[in-house]
Amino acid sequence: MNRNLLVLGLTLFALPPSHAAAADCPGNPGALGTERVLAIDPAQTAPVGRKQFPRTLPLAPKEIVLTFDDGPWPGTTDRVLNALKHECVRATFFMLGRNAAAHPALAKRVLAEGHTVAHHTYKHPLLNRMPIERAEAEIDHGIAAVEAATYGEPGGPPRTPFFRFPGFASSPALLDRLKARGIAVFGADLWAGDWNPMSPQHERALLLQRLTKAGGGIVLLHDIQPKTAAMLPELLRELKHRDYRVVHIVPAEAR
Ligand SMILES: [Zn+2]
Repeated sequence: MNRNLLVLGLTLFALPPSHAAAADCPGNPGALGTERVLAIDPAQTAPVGRKQFPRTLPLAPKEIVLTFDDGPWPGTTDRVLNALKHECVRATFFMLGRNAAAHPALAKRVLAEGHTVAHHTYKHPLLNRMPIERAEAEIDHGIAAVEAATYGEPGGPPRTPFFRFPGFASSPALLDRLKARGIAVFGADLWAGDWNPMSPQHERALLLQRLTKAGGGIVLLHDIQPKTAAMLPELLRELKHRDYRVVHIVPAEAR
């Protein structure tokens, strides 16, 4: 490598990582942006999320992964998508099969805007309270419905083999089954608890406070929650001000 190339390489390396992503955001040069993509190989990924499991994703300090559960839902998911688009932020949506089946255009919009479409069962039962065969059937029903709505047809193995247990109600036997099937399990590192009654302002403040304490991580939100949709634009602005950087998780190989 000649000296000029070396200097160029060092210069690029020294740029703030979010610089390029934000500069590429149409109509919003000061956008939060998406700093980087993290490819997840389920075969190499034990369940992640420190609220439930001993480990999390390999994230640097102040890196965050935004996740939205239980949608898609008309109105709230649209507002969430609009806020993410405005800031050029990519997130992961753990969809319910019954909601994707009822709102296929919205499921397709999530995919079309570059987000990761992941799985969260068909109708949100607590899977550790039923026989394992029924639990697996519920997981598979959800995957088939989400994939049929999103891609137009159900696949065989999930195109995105990412799963989150409703209510985090996992069991060792189900975790073993999902591991054997090459499906990565996601918990979360922090949340504001947007399923509880609170104002959008309180939700935003609580989330920022918990992010400060945790230093980053996998953030759990719900795109079916009006208060989350309401506070998201300001939350994303504040994340930018506080130098958090967004990481987009994707499956290591397209299936
Ligand atoms: Zn849920």
